[in-house]
Amino acid sequence: MTKSMTNADTHTQRVAILGAGPIGIECASALQRSLPNISEIIILEAGDTIASNIRQNWPHVRLFSPWKYNTSTSSREVLRSDGQDAEGYDGDKCVTGGEYIDQYLEPVAKALVKCDNVQLHLRTRVVSVGRSGLLKRDMGKEARSKGKFNILCTRIPLGGKKESVGDEFCFRDVDAVLDCTGTRSDYSWFGEGGMPAIGEKQLSRDKDSGSFFTRLIPQVGEVKGKRVAVIGSGYSAATSVRNLIDSPTVQQIYWLTRRVLGKSGQLYRVLEGDALQNRAALCEMANELVSRNPEPEGDGSGMENKVAHIDNCTITYATLNESTNGSTPTITLTIDATDPTAERLPVHKLDVDYLVSNVGMRPDLSIHSELQVHTCYATEGPMALAATLLGASGDCLTQATPGIDSLLTPEPNFFVLGNKSYGRSSAFLMRVGIEQAEAVALYLREQI
Ligand SMILES: Cc1cc2nc3c(=O)[nH]c(=O)nc-3n(C[C@H](O)[C@H](O)[C@H](O)COP(=O)(O)OP(=O)(O)OC[C@H]3O[C@@H](n4cnc5c(N)ncnc54)[C@H](O)[C@@H]3O)c2cc1C
Repeated sequence: MTKSMTNADTHTQRVAILGAGPIGIECASALQRSLPNISEIIILEAGDTIASNIRQNWPHVRLFSPWKYNTSTSSREVLRSDGQDAEGYDGDKCVTGGEYIDQYLEPVAKALVKCDNVQLHLRTRVVSVGRSGLLKRDMGKEARSKGKFNILCTRIPLGGKKESVGDEFCFRDVDAVLDCTGTRSDYSWFGEGGMPAIGEKQLSRDKDSGSFFTRLIPQVGEVKGKRVAVIGSGYSAATSVRNLIDSPTVQQIYWLTRRVLGKSGQLYRVLEGDALQNRAALCEMANELVSRNPEPEGDGSGMENKVAHIDNCTITYATLNESTNGSTPTITLTIDATDPTAERLPVHKLDVDYLVSNVGMRPDLSIHSELQVHTCYATEGPMALAATLLGASGDCLTQATPGIDSLLTPEPNFFVLGNKSYGRSSAFLMRVGIEQAEAVALYLREQI
């Protein structure tokens, strides 16, 4: 569907996609396929490039889902319409985040922007979405269905300069909005009950924090000659631990998990016959590691192995010990037991040189705070979908893709899709997002 092939209808249909990550791009392809005469698809992306979350934060990490789960018929059609090769995406190969962008998302995005009706605005951060002439508290589905959306954005200046009032502008008269902004803009805290540990905020704000603190997955060899603590028990934490083990000069790794390790001694549930082999291998490696490397005695000294797993950890203080002689500072973690009645209690103090916090991310709800979007009190995903997922199987791969009913919010024609639709849950897979994109595009064909 190149520029010459588009055929704008006289009735204007303007759809905005917030975020040009994998699912934002898939939404654009699905709209092109299901509504070939749509007048405008506006994609608004905060980063310098498409998929900037993956590009900036985990280009080196290998996906555990293979090509066949991460690509769509609609995007292949976009590639073919542009005269590009759309073969080779069906296999079981798992590429890295960076390769996935270079070999698939980027070519699809380039083909999309050649279409007359597609606009991609990079360095454009969405601040807020509102309904023209209606406040959040104004009830009445019919009135809300008729009102158009306005989208307040801020243009991110080049060269890392701060955004100012003069950079703000508004997209008006939008018929439907698909919020695909992911969850990367906000991180979860590692302190008690999900609060920041005392000192945690300061750690991330310190001007030199990059030399002793990260919330990302370190690359192999990136951390050199240090004692490292990794906090978290998700797939990201396990990947960090694996990369640190493979980093030759790392001295010691303390893997701290909130959960109490059950009698099974398993930190991860290995799914029987898991079709995602890389995920299964990661879980097996992690379980083997925690069973082989119990926590050290007393203050953490006397470790024989490079890795120690310390479960039942609630971190109450993260204290930065500034260096006086120009060397890098150290961090002292003060740890209480999550379950004080458990058999094993964690060490109380731990000194490390580098801290990796992989305790999850959360969606930015402020974007739709002026709309009637009902979010789940537990996950912060949209309520209808969250309720459907509650009863779903633990394996994100085998979860039935919820139909359009679970994607509708009380706000007509406003959708939360992709990673953000799962809120704080880490069970989201691109496969699900691709199906969401197709379902919403088909629905909008009847609505706008
Ligand atoms: C280490 C790691 C490995 C993973 N491996 C897999 C895997 O193997 N398979 C799988 O299916 N999933 C995997 N995931 C989950 C994965 O993140 C998602 O499947 C995928 O990135 C979701 O795409 P998305 O488009 O919903 O969100 P994102 O990739 O987060 O994209 C959101 C986009 O929105 C932009 N944005 C954010 N806020 C704004 C704003 N206010 N205004 C404008 N733009 C904004 C961001 O810059 C970004 O480009 C992994 C996640 C991590 C962290």
